[in-house]
Amino acid sequence: MQTYSYVQCVRKACSFRFPSPETDPVDLRCPKCGAGTTIVANGMDASPHPLERDDSNLHLEGFLDNIRSIFNTGSIFRTSEGCGISKLHLGGITPAPSHPRMHKTSLGSENIIPWEQHWNGLSAIQQLKANGYQIISLEYNSNSVPLFSIRSIPSPVVLVAGNENFGIDPAILAESYIVTHLPMTGKKESLNVAIAFSITAYWLRFGMKNEP
Ligand SMILES: [Zn+2]
Repeated sequence: MQTYSYVQCVRKACSFRFPSPETDPVDLRCPKCGAGTTIVANGMDASPHPLERDDSNLHLEGFLDNIRSIFNTGSIFRTSEGCGISKLHLGGITPAPSHPRMHKTSLGSENIIPWEQHWNGLSAIQQLKANGYQIISLEYNSNSVPLFSIRSIPSPVVLVAGNENFGIDPAILAESYIVTHLPMTGKKESLNVAIAFSITAYWLRFGMKNEP
Protein backbone atom coordinates (compact mmCIF):
# COMPACT_ATOMS: atom_id res chain seq x y z
CA MET A 1 0.00 0.00 0.00
CA GLN A 2 1.74 3.11 -1.24
CA THR A 3 0.16 6.35 -0.15
CA TYR A 4 2.94 8.85 -0.78
CA SER A 5 6.36 9.24 -2.24
CA TYR A 6 9.50 11.18 -1.53
CA VAL A 7 10.86 13.15 -4.45
CA GLN A 8 14.06 15.03 -5.10
CA CYS A 9 14.99 17.88 -7.42
CA VAL A 10 16.97 16.57 -10.40
CA ARG A 11 19.23 19.65 -10.47
CA LYS A 12 22.25 18.46 -8.54
CA ALA A 13 23.14 21.85 -7.07
CA CYS A 14 19.65 22.01 -5.58
CA SER A 15 18.73 18.41 -4.64
CA PHE A 16 15.74 19.65 -2.64
CA ARG A 17 14.07 16.58 -1.14
CA PHE A 18 10.46 16.57 0.07
CA PRO A 19 7.31 14.40 0.37
CA SER A 20 4.51 14.32 -2.16
CA PRO A 21 1.06 13.01 -1.25
CA GLU A 22 0.84 11.32 -4.63
CA THR A 23 2.11 7.81 -5.25
CA ASP A 24 3.39 8.71 -8.69
CA PRO A 25 3.76 12.47 -9.07
CA VAL A 26 3.95 13.41 -12.74
CA ASP A 27 5.45 16.75 -13.81
CA LEU A 28 6.09 17.78 -10.24
CA ARG A 29 8.42 20.81 -10.27
CA CYS A 30 10.92 21.61 -7.56
CA PRO A 31 9.39 24.31 -5.32
CA LYS A 32 12.85 25.81 -4.75
CA CYS A 33 14.24 26.12 -8.27
CA GLY A 34 11.56 24.95 -10.69
CA ALA A 35 13.59 22.07 -12.15
CA GLY A 36 12.08 18.60 -12.54
CA THR A 37 11.88 16.04 -9.77
CA THR A 38 12.38 12.34 -9.52
CA ILE A 39 10.89 9.81 -7.11
CA VAL A 40 13.53 8.66 -4.65
CA ALA A 41 11.44 6.58 -2.27
CA ASN A 42 7.85 5.56 -1.92
CA GLY A 43 5.32 3.55 -0.03
CA MET A 44 4.86 3.10 3.66
CA ASP A 45 5.13 0.09 5.88
CA ALA A 46 1.87 -1.72 5.22
CA SER A 47 2.05 -3.91 8.31
CA PRO A 48 3.76 -2.22 11.25
CA HIS A 49 3.99 -4.34 14.38
CA PRO A 50 1.18 -3.73 16.89
CA LEU A 51 1.65 -0.68 19.10
CA GLU A 52 2.76 -1.38 22.64
CA ARG A 53 -0.09 -1.34 25.11
CA ASP A 54 0.17 -0.44 28.74
CA ASP A 55 -0.23 -3.45 30.99
CA SER A 56 -0.15 -1.59 34.30
CA ASN A 57 -3.22 -0.93 36.38
CA LEU A 58 -2.50 2.77 36.69
CA HIS A 59 -5.65 4.86 36.70
CA LEU A 60 -4.54 8.26 35.45
CA GLU A 61 -6.53 11.48 35.18
CA GLY A 62 -5.36 14.96 34.20
CA PHE A 63 -6.12 18.29 35.84
CA LEU A 64 -5.57 21.48 33.83
CA ASP A 65 -5.87 24.35 36.26
CA ASN A 66 -6.12 27.80 34.72
CA ILE A 67 -4.48 26.96 31.40
CA ARG A 68 -4.90 30.03 29.24
CA SER A 69 -4.28 28.68 25.75
CA ILE A 70 -6.82 26.86 23.58
CA PHE A 71 -3.89 25.39 21.66
CA ASN A 72 -2.27 23.94 24.80
CA THR A 73 -5.56 22.54 26.06
CA GLY A 74 -6.33 20.93 22.69
CA SER A 75 -2.84 19.49 22.50
CA ILE A 76 -3.21 17.94 25.96
CA PHE A 77 -6.55 16.38 24.93
CA ARG A 78 -4.75 14.71 22.06
CA THR A 79 -1.93 13.42 24.25
CA SER A 80 -4.43 12.14 26.80
CA GLU A 81 -6.06 9.94 24.19
CA GLY A 82 -2.64 8.46 23.37
CA CYS A 83 -1.52 7.62 26.86
CA GLY A 84 -4.58 6.36 28.63
CA ILE A 85 -5.79 9.34 30.63
CA SER A 86 -9.35 8.45 31.65
CA LYS A 87 -10.60 11.95 32.29
CA LEU A 88 -9.53 15.60 32.10
CA HIS A 89 -10.54 18.11 34.77
CA LEU A 90 -10.60 21.72 33.62
CA GLY A 91 -10.15 24.20 36.45
CA GLY A 92 -10.71 27.97 36.48
CA ILE A 93 -10.13 29.68 33.12
CA THR A 94 -9.08 26.55 31.20
CA PRO A 95 -11.09 26.64 27.95
CA ALA A 96 -13.70 23.92 27.42
CA PRO A 97 -13.24 21.74 24.32
CA SER A 98 -16.51 23.07 22.94
CA HIS A 99 -14.44 26.06 21.78
CA PRO A 100 -14.52 26.04 17.95
CA ARG A 101 -10.78 26.62 17.61
CA MET A 102 -9.75 23.73 19.80
CA HIS A 103 -10.67 21.02 17.32
CA LYS A 104 -7.62 21.90 15.20
CA THR A 105 -5.14 20.70 17.81
CA SER A 106 -7.22 18.09 19.63
CA LEU A 107 -8.18 16.35 16.36
CA GLY A 108 -11.42 15.05 17.79
CA SER A 109 -9.98 13.55 20.97
CA GLU A 110 -12.18 15.94 22.97
CA ASN A 111 -15.06 13.69 21.95
CA ILE A 112 -13.30 10.61 23.35
CA ILE A 113 -11.86 11.83 26.64
CA PRO A 114 -14.48 12.61 29.30
CA TRP A 115 -13.97 16.04 30.82
CA GLU A 116 -15.42 18.14 33.59
CA GLN A 117 -15.17 21.84 34.42
CA HIS A 118 -14.54 23.15 37.93
CA TRP A 119 -14.81 26.85 38.70
CA ASN A 120 -12.63 26.30 41.79
CA GLY A 121 -9.68 24.04 41.03
CA LEU A 122 -8.55 23.78 44.63
CA SER A 123 -11.88 22.42 45.92
CA ALA A 124 -11.95 19.91 43.09
CA ILE A 125 -8.42 18.75 43.93
CA GLN A 126 -9.36 18.44 47.61
CA GLN A 127 -12.38 16.36 46.62
CA LEU A 128 -10.25 14.07 44.43
CA LYS A 129 -7.76 13.70 47.25
CA ALA A 130 -10.55 12.81 49.67
CA ASN A 131 -11.56 10.11 47.16
CA GLY A 132 -8.09 8.54 47.35
CA TYR A 133 -6.32 10.11 44.38
CA GLN A 134 -2.59 10.88 44.53
CA ILE A 135 -2.01 14.44 43.34
CA ILE A 136 1.12 14.83 41.18
CA SER A 137 1.89 18.42 40.27
CA LEU A 138 4.12 19.51 37.44
CA GLU A 139 6.12 22.45 38.73
CA TYR A 140 9.73 23.40 39.41
CA ASN A 141 10.13 24.56 43.00
CA SER A 142 12.17 23.96 46.16
CA ASN A 143 10.38 20.67 46.85
CA SER A 144 10.17 19.26 43.33
CA VAL A 145 11.87 16.02 42.29
CA PRO A 146 13.10 15.23 38.77
CA LEU A 147 10.45 13.32 36.81
CA PHE A 148 12.68 10.40 35.87
CA SER A 149 13.55 9.71 39.50
CA ILE A 150 9.93 8.64 40.05
CA ARG A 151 9.95 4.86 39.72
CA SER A 152 6.55 3.86 41.02
CA ILE A 153 3.35 5.53 42.12
CA PRO A 154 0.22 4.27 43.81
CA SER A 155 -2.92 4.45 41.69
CA PRO A 156 -5.20 6.39 41.17
CA VAL A 157 -3.28 9.49 40.10
CA VAL A 158 -4.26 12.99 39.03
CA LEU A 159 -1.56 14.81 37.08
CA VAL A 160 -1.86 18.59 37.48
CA ALA A 161 -0.58 21.27 35.11
CA GLY A 162 -1.08 24.98 35.72
CA ASN A 163 -1.07 28.40 34.16
CA GLU A 164 1.49 29.20 31.45
CA ASN A 165 2.73 32.31 33.32
CA PHE A 166 1.88 31.78 36.97
CA GLY A 167 2.27 28.02 37.34
CA ILE A 168 0.12 25.89 39.60
CA ASP A 169 -1.97 27.45 42.37
CA PRO A 170 0.23 27.31 45.53
CA ALA A 171 -2.64 25.80 47.51
CA ILE A 172 -2.83 22.93 44.99
CA LEU A 173 0.94 22.43 45.27
CA ALA A 174 0.48 22.16 49.03
CA GLU A 175 -2.07 19.35 48.51
CA SER A 176 0.31 17.40 46.27
CA TYR A 177 1.74 13.96 46.97
CA ILE A 178 4.64 14.69 44.59
CA VAL A 179 5.76 17.89 42.88
CA THR A 180 7.90 17.05 39.87
CA HIS A 181 9.89 18.90 37.22
CA LEU A 182 11.57 17.93 33.98
CA PRO A 183 15.36 17.93 34.01
CA MET A 184 16.71 20.49 31.51
CA THR A 185 20.00 20.84 29.69
CA GLY A 186 19.67 24.43 28.50
CA LYS A 187 19.26 27.79 30.17
CA LYS A 188 15.46 27.79 30.23
CA GLU A 189 13.81 26.34 33.31
CA SER A 190 10.66 24.99 31.70
CA LEU A 191 9.04 23.71 28.51
CA ASN A 192 5.71 24.59 26.96
CA VAL A 193 3.01 23.29 29.34
CA ALA A 194 1.44 20.90 26.82
CA ILE A 195 4.84 19.38 25.98
CA ALA A 196 5.75 19.04 29.65
CA PHE A 197 2.37 17.49 30.49
CA SER A 198 2.78 15.02 27.63
CA ILE A 199 6.27 13.89 28.61
CA THR A 200 5.17 13.48 32.22
CA ALA A 201 2.00 11.57 31.38
CA TYR A 202 3.95 9.21 29.11
CA TRP A 203 6.51 8.57 31.81
CA LEU A 204 3.81 7.81 34.38
CA ARG A 205 2.03 5.52 31.92
CA PHE A 206 4.89 3.69 30.24
CA GLY A 207 8.09 4.47 32.10
CA MET A 208 7.72 2.50 35.29
CA LYS A 209 6.22 -0.51 36.97
CA ASN A 210 3.13 0.84 38.62
CA GLU A 211 1.71 -0.55 41.79
CA PRO A 212 -1.84 -1.83 41.51
ZN1 LIG B 1 15.54 22.39 -7.13
